[in-house]
Amino acid sequence: MASSQDRSQGRTGGIVSGGTAEAATYTGNRALQIEEPLIFEMGQPGRCGVDLPEPPRVKDRLNGLRRTGDIGLPGLSEPQVVQHYTRLSQKNYAIDMGVYPLGSCTMKHNPRINEKVARLPGIGDLHPLQPVSTVQGALELIDRLAHWLKTLTGMPAVAMSPAAGAHGEMCGMMAIAAALKARGERAQRKTVLAPESAHGTNPATAAAIGFTVKPIPANDRGRVDLTALKAALGPDVAAIMLTNPNTCGLFESEIVEIAQAVHAAGAYFYCDGANFNAIAGRVRPGDLGVDCMHINLHKTFSTPHGGGGPGAGPVVLSAALAPYAPYPWIVKDGATWRVAEDESKVEGTPLGRLKAFHGQMGMFTRALAYIMSHGADGLKQASEDAVLSANYVMAALKDTMSPAFDGPCMHEALFDDSFLKDTGVSTLDFAKAMIDEGYHPMTMYFPLVVHGAMLIEPTESVAKEDLDQFIGALRSLAARAKTGTAAEAFKAAPLYAPRRRLDETLAARKPILRWKPSNNPPETDPVKQAAE
Ligand SMILES: *Cc1c(COP(=O)(O)O)cnc(C)c1O
Repeated sequence: MASSQDRSQGRTGGIVSGGTAEAATYTGNRALQIEEPLIFEMGQPGRCGVDLPEPPRVKDRLNGLRRTGDIGLPGLSEPQVVQHYTRLSQKNYAIDMGVYPLGSCTMKHNPRINEKVARLPGIGDLHPLQPVSTVQGALELIDRLAHWLKTLTGMPAVAMSPAAGAHGEMCGMMAIAAALKARGERAQRKTVLAPESAHGTNPATAAAIGFTVKPIPANDRGRVDLTALKAALGPDVAAIMLTNPNTCGLFESEIVEIAQAVHAAGAYFYCDGANFNAIAGRVRPGDLGVDCMHINLHKTFSTPHGGGGPGAGPVVLSAALAPYAPYPWIVKDGATWRVAEDESKVEGTPLGRLKAFHGQMGMFTRALAYIMSHGADGLKQASEDAVLSANYVMAALKDTMSPAFDGPCMHEALFDDSFLKDTGVSTLDFAKAMIDEGYHPMTMYFPLVVHGAMLIEPTESVAKEDLDQFIGALRSLAARAKTGTAAEAFKAAPLYAPRRRLDETLAARKPILRWKPSNNPPETDPVKQAAE
């Protein structure tokens, strides 16, 4: 989104320069970095990219509602539109451009075979309201993916419809609430325990379903403090929400004991499965005592994500929670697939419907293509390689940057900001300097339990030489920060990005979402400027 805050820093101010005086170009462009106006600031009224025939005269049935004024659509030719959107697309950093080390997000390669399969006409052209007899293959595809998810997690049931991880959390916690209600304990069990390092969606979900969240502290090894957990368990506790490997990139080594303690207290174990990429094919969460877990298909099983969607968050459920799973269910009667879409047609006491239709078909297709092209052995290797990559990064940086915890990590390497102490350089400055080196920064300031956190998830899909260059860049930045004289340069970063430091808080709190002509004074017109 371009807001007028960004813009005031850009075109009218000429090119940004790294503190040194640099000549502004006539256009405001900087080689291939094109200063792109908003589409409303371009073109001419009346210009059009298509030549439509004059519509036949129809009788006007709008009476006084007929529009008389201009609707203010930009008037642009086809090449202008194509160029505008192509330029905008090139302003994005993307997985397809380089290392994307955003921790907790599993920004891995999306194999093109997934895209090819998802675009096959028999899949890409499906409509959810088609007669079931014409979508037998699609239903089988969903069931086949469900089978893989149940097998990989060692769980007996899966609800396929949730549209993202957070939506899956909601599904799982609603199933837990329903199970407690059936036991007559919903009113009494009001508390959900969540580690302090939990992803923000966990406490938010628990609260949205009507639970009260109680944080559980971590021990000095970055894992759940088992003693504190046991002390917090009681007849008021509905569930624990736990991520494994956790958001510090560490395996909860006492997970079986945690599950036993939770169950002994009559509570359920919700596992946040966003980090499944580290263990898929190696560990089955069902064997660890998990009652339900969402799987972010868009992370672990490589379907494109970012920018708010689309995702898919199927939830695997234990036998105790399966009866409460939301419909629809895909059912096979003899040789025929059908969709069970209401209470009367499914077993158990389903919690209702969470989403229109059957879930994210495109994501299901991509995930199944990914799974089947890897096979069970390939999925296991992908997990092992993801862990190996993160440990390679950790080992190569631990003498220069400061690891948040001792010992090896899982699929993410977590550093704190103690290596920046007394340098005047903050985590934010460090991340901005990475942009000048051509890297998307890692996840910063998350998890909150680590001061100035920097969470690096290289994934299994980065080549060793690319990881080496990334490591080299971070080592060089860290060395520069530690000279103690570079704070000013770091604070000025990024120097080479199309925009420098934006007021991100202002942009998030008071986004300018509507363009008004009055916001666009005529002096920003380069032609006029040049004429003056
Ligand atoms: C990504 C993530 C989520 C939420 O998943 P969405 O698909 O973004 O809704 C929850 N927990 C953790 C640990 C995550 O990384």
